[in-house]
Amino acid sequence: MARLALVATVIAVLSGCSASMATRPMSAAAQATELQANGAVFILQYEPVDEDSAKDIRSVLPAIVPILQRWGNFTTPVTIRIHPTHDALEAAVLHYNYPWLRAWARYDTIDLQSPRTWGILGSALPQVTEMLTHELTHCLMYQQSATENTWMYKRIPLWFREGMASVTAHQEYRRPHDEDVWRYLKAHPEKNPILDADGLYQAEPDIVYGAAHEAFAFLDGRYGDEAIIRLMQRMKTNGDFGPAFRTAIGLSEDVFAREYVRYVEWEGWRDAPDGKARAHPLALPPTQRTGGLHPVERPASL
Ligand SMILES: [Zn+2]
Repeated sequence: MARLALVATVIAVLSGCSASMATRPMSAAAQATELQANGAVFILQYEPVDEDSAKDIRSVLPAIVPILQRWGNFTTPVTIRIHPTHDALEAAVLHYNYPWLRAWARYDTIDLQSPRTWGILGSALPQVTEMLTHELTHCLMYQQSATENTWMYKRIPLWFREGMASVTAHQEYRRPHDEDVWRYLKAHPEKNPILDADGLYQAEPDIVYGAAHEAFAFLDGRYGDEAIIRLMQRMKTNGDFGPAFRTAIGLSEDVFAREYVRYVEWEGWRDAPDGKARAHPLALPPTQRTGGLHPVERPASL
């Protein structure tokens, strides 16, 4: 219980990633600088008071881009707007009364509350790196999956968006794990934190983010990065997430979500090695699988 409470607290300062187009410009005093890192282009906008935060962000971006490039390359420059206060962030994204909000990602922008204001002592570089890795994963996913005009309409589910960003940023240490999802499902058999993520997100963000992370890791463990890249490419050329998922992965999103839930309910995670960098057991050859796992065939399309 204490662990879940802690996780909820930590998560609370992380995520607010949206498909909303609404935004407001920064003040006239804002400065802008451009940075290139491993072929990606970033434009930093910030107020004079955030010169040091901008410097921190410039220093971590070159290390972040190669991590993101497991999914492909940015096709469009990303503008990172550093807002000097939380209120300025809320005003910029036109969402109010979200005290936990620290960043907001879109196709080619990130609105970021200045790391200088994240805590009493500001924020350390590892936290800035983690946050930007998460948020930039969203931007890259949108750019790989859609165009500037279509990214809002691809119906990419929350578990995929947030799971991909959380896995890429290695945020498993701050998320509920499979065992927590298992407890949750036992207590709430009528709820599905994957398929019902949008409905549960506001009231129970911790379990939604944890389940999203684990479900995405499960997907990646079974089918690999190549299938996820193929899924994004399918979306870009051929419609919504649902049909693209079915074609690229070989089964529907609904069937996949039920497979993940079955894996959790049947406690396949109990025999998994410690550490979330491990592949899920279903990614292993059948002879190495353990527990009462449902046998899953790789789709013929792979
Ligand atoms: Zn996010």
